[in-house]
Amino acid sequence: MIENNIASVRHRVQLASTNSHRNVDSVLILAVSKTKPAEDIATAYQLGLHDFGENYVQELEAKSATLSDLNICWHFIGPLQSNKTATVASIAHWVHSVDRLKIARRLSDQRPENLEPLNVCIQVNIDREATKSGVMPEDTLALALEIASLPNIKLRGLMVIPSAHVPASQTKASFARAAKLLNELKGHPLLQSAPIDTLSMGMSSDLELAIEAGSTIVRVGSDLFGARN
Ligand SMILES: *Cc1c(COP(=O)(O)O)cnc(C)c1O
Repeated sequence: MIENNIASVRHRVQLASTNSHRNVDSVLILAVSKTKPAEDIATAYQLGLHDFGENYVQELEAKSATLSDLNICWHFIGPLQSNKTATVASIAHWVHSVDRLKIARRLSDQRPENLEPLNVCIQVNIDREATKSGVMPEDTLALALEIASLPNIKLRGLMVIPSAHVPASQTKASFARAAKLLNELKGHPLLQSAPIDTLSMGMSSDLELAIEAGSTIVRVGSDLFGARN
């Protein structure tokens, strides 16, 4: 089943890339494996997916230990509390969900010296939802400027999760605002030395819209691994 799912998601990414005159290699499929067993990750890895996303620190810890023989690039994409930053800093290659300076500082301070700098995206609350984490769009630049100066972190871009269950036109508008915000960071004179190239947006239900808007990482869970309980 995972094999067919991967083929289908790859096909969708290919089609969406072609339709938006983009190279298919400009879009990374991040396999979101939260709540799924390590065996599913190993299966997907053998089929060519090497980037996996986890939302819970305990799951990241357990699965990365079980699968330490595989050359997996681990992305942490869930809400991150201060008391868990050290664990994430020692395991993850990417964190997509940084939304305050305190967390970024801790990740930088706690990043082990023998590892490459941690890649981070700022999570933006693009639809200003009371229930969602993420920095407000108008506060993104200030946070980016502070994060860009931290030594053991590489500021790579932005991550957004638009409102669920809304018309496609609304999702499209949210993605477009995120793309515009990323371009503002890319063009900012004080961020020219930051390697900003990443727009993490699009999930199972809306990856086509995200790719059309310029997404470079689509985070796909249920359409690869099946519905979660
Ligand atoms: C669960 C999750 C996903 C994957 O969602 P699907 O709809 O299952 O593809 C993507 N991003 C984040 C931040 C998630 O928590």
